[in-house]
Amino acid sequence: MIQDLRPGALGDAVDRAAEQALRAGSLLPIRTEQRTVEQAGVHFVVRSVSSLARKEADKRLSAAAGEDGTRPVNPFLPPEPELTVCALGGTHLAVLNKFNVLDRHLLLVTRRFEHQESLLTEADFHALCLCLAEYDALGFYNGGVVAGASQPHKHLQVVPLPLIPGGDEVPVTPLLAAAPADPSPGLVPGFPFQHAFARLAISPIRIGEAARATWGLYRSLLRAVGIGERPVDGESRQSSPYNLLLTRRWMLVVPRSAEFWEGISVNALGFAGSLFVRDMDQLETVRRRGPFAVLSGVGMPLAAVDPEG
Ligand code: AMP
Repeated sequence: MIQDLRPGALGDAVDRAAEQALRAGSLLPIRTEQRTVEQAGVHFVVRSVSSLARKEADKRLSAAAGEDGTRPVNPFLPPEPELTVCALGGTHLAVLNKFNVLDRHLLLVTRRFEHQESLLTEADFHALCLCLAEYDALGFYNGGVVAGASQPHKHLQVVPLPLIPGGDEVPVTPLLAAAPADPSPGLVPGFPFQHAFARLAISPIRIGEAARATWGLYRSLLRAVGIGERPVDGESRQSSPYNLLLTRRWMLVVPRSAEFWEGISVNALGFAGSLFVRDMDQLETVRRRGPFAVLSGVGMPLAAVDPEG
């Protein structure tokens, strides 16, 4: 029997589940080394798997991506009981990311199959807002394979803030600070790729209102970057890939053109200022060309934005 989230208890429930899952061998964290690469006032965090742990981590990463054939067809239907933290209402489960790089990395998976490339619903935002009300966190979504998703079953993700202990909430915070203060879709000065950004204020008390408001804002930001719906096999899907990032204070949508740039895979966390490289060659590429070249390479050129909207 999966317990429903008790208000105020998510942090403890996650820690308890992680401790037990580690002991049972169900949680397989990927240990990384962390470096900083500075560009335009942003101290990007670039993580790489330590050389000692690389072989083991490579196995886990390919298992996470389903490349080794050992993973069940759908790891989220149902999720492993040891990794399942709690229910988020009748529609979602909070599940520990089995191969986590960050601590307390939660996946919010739909209880019934929904495709990762279908647009997010009010229920998705309700589950997300339930978590963001518990502790300060970054919610994110990799909308499609090209946006970094490795599983086709719908999963939103939540990691605690600040992303780097002792740092800004996220590395790109200095640039977000320069964005317009109003809540309508706008641009972050200094982001050299298409995006739509807006400020918001999530009430930790009125979850229903927060869910409706964030769902509405998400749809406005998608519209602002020209993403809508298209039918696929009689179902409605996103018209193109994108990343969504959101905290209690802001929301960002970034349309994607590619999964990789120079072999470097980018997901939503990249646009918060956190990149993951597989080896020292990729780290050197990030250092030499700059993290914004990576982000622009997987995003859309700004020049393609139609100023008339
Ligand atoms: P993404 O790669 O962004 O689509 O996120 C999916 C996440 O699911 C990856 O970060 C994997 O580490 C994680 N994952 C893969 N298999 C499992 C599993 N059996 N249980 C929980 N998490 C998993």
